[in-house]
Amino acid sequence: MTKKMVEKITNMDEDFAQWYTDVVTKAELVDYSSVRGSMIIRPYGYAIWERIKDALDTQIKETGHENVYMPLLIPESLLQKEKDHIEGFAPEVAWVTHGGDEKLAERLCIRPTSEVLFAEHYKNIIHSYRDLPKLYNQWANVIRWEKTTRPFLRTLEFLWQEGHTCHETEEDAHEETVKMLEVYAEICERLLAIPVVKGRKTEKEKFAGAKYTYTIESLMHDGKALQSGTSHNLGTGFAESFGIEFLNREGKLQPVHQTSWGFTTRIIGAMIMVHGDDKGLVLPPEVAPIQVLIVPIAQHKEGVLDAAYDLHHSLKSSVRIAIDASDKKPGWKFNESEMKGIPLRLEIGPKDIEEKKVVLVRRDTGEKIQVENEKIEAEISRLLKEIQENLYNKALGHRISKTAAAVTMDEFTGNLTKNGGFINAMWCGKQSCEDQIKEQTQATSRCIPFEQEQLSEVCVYCSEPADKMVVWAKAY
Ligand SMILES: [Zn+2]
Repeated sequence: MTKKMVEKITNMDEDFAQWYTDVVTKAELVDYSSVRGSMIIRPYGYAIWERIKDALDTQIKETGHENVYMPLLIPESLLQKEKDHIEGFAPEVAWVTHGGDEKLAERLCIRPTSEVLFAEHYKNIIHSYRDLPKLYNQWANVIRWEKTTRPFLRTLEFLWQEGHTCHETEEDAHEETVKMLEVYAEICERLLAIPVVKGRKTEKEKFAGAKYTYTIESLMHDGKALQSGTSHNLGTGFAESFGIEFLNREGKLQPVHQTSWGFTTRIIGAMIMVHGDDKGLVLPPEVAPIQVLIVPIAQHKEGVLDAAYDLHHSLKSSVRIAIDASDKKPGWKFNESEMKGIPLRLEIGPKDIEEKKVVLVRRDTGEKIQVENEKIEAEISRLLKEIQENLYNKALGHRISKTAAAVTMDEFTGNLTKNGGFINAMWCGKQSCEDQIKEQTQATSRCIPFEQEQLSEVCVYCSEPADKMVVWAKAY
């Protein structure tokens, strides 16, 4: 029997929060820094972010956007210009008050988001309908002074992209808002194997300063929801506050219609909590920095390492493959590759070499498959596709099993207590009902999903007429 060489992690069902902390640290995704709530993203964690970033950046460019870079610091007077926006962000803003020894005449905020910087810039460069649309995106870090923090999910500083666009018409801005939500949904579902619910945020939950906010929501293993990406139609609010006007096709001055949309390192936390298990991380092959790890067995024996390196050499152009030729015992290497969520392990030892075959082991199911040498490449490709699909289907099955419809508050609280997950319920549209539901159940409205069902004629809380179904959940 193989001795467990890697320190055991907490079981998910025992203590999900501790399990999460164990995974992010022991899979070497992050380390804590000396500033509370800040994280060091280690090479393996950063490699995952780079794969997400590359895929999303490609989509952003293919949909016609250009990357720019805005300054880190925002003068207080600029941040104050849009009233709703500053009200929404003020409690989380970090301020720079001194330059060297000297107190600054005006405080500078470290960007929590960059709407106002883009607005100021757009005012300077947009004059005519010929200057539109402006489709800008930036990759950056931002700071939000959060009270409680957890690696990836909520940190003082995080990485993201923020898109900021200007359009001639309301319809163009709406189309952009929908388009970028679809791009985010694609990245979640195709790359990260995370099924999402698409919908619109309620007025209470929308972005500060937006006309409306679209969101994708996903469900974690523990039955809590996570907002996974948002796309805002800003209307003309910022344009009016900042004076971003253009001469339209009729020769009249009018404000631009704007959007903004963001996707962050938070999604790595979602991926961990959707796919992980008691052995650690489980990475979807599309996003895994290493898709196959070769583990030589009895590597001190003649010919084993040579055969392992030959395999590595012949496969590296078709798959992201690495080899662990360290002097650790194979059992240790198995546990490490499981902790790190590597989708496939390839074992090769003296007996395999003699029989002209290898053993492939799936991370998602633990299944062991013997493969003849000439079929290795095709089999790896097939298995990686199958693992990707399996992870998505498993996550979707989990979400379906944890989604319940509630017509009364008894059903609402009963299901939420028993099962967690998403609760679908009708809502009258009054914020007071939304507030009361949150107060009584700790569940927040996640979104008004695009795919609606008329579950009943009345609001689950106040029994007044209701025509909107809302998805509710406890959320990260
Ligand atoms: Zn109501």
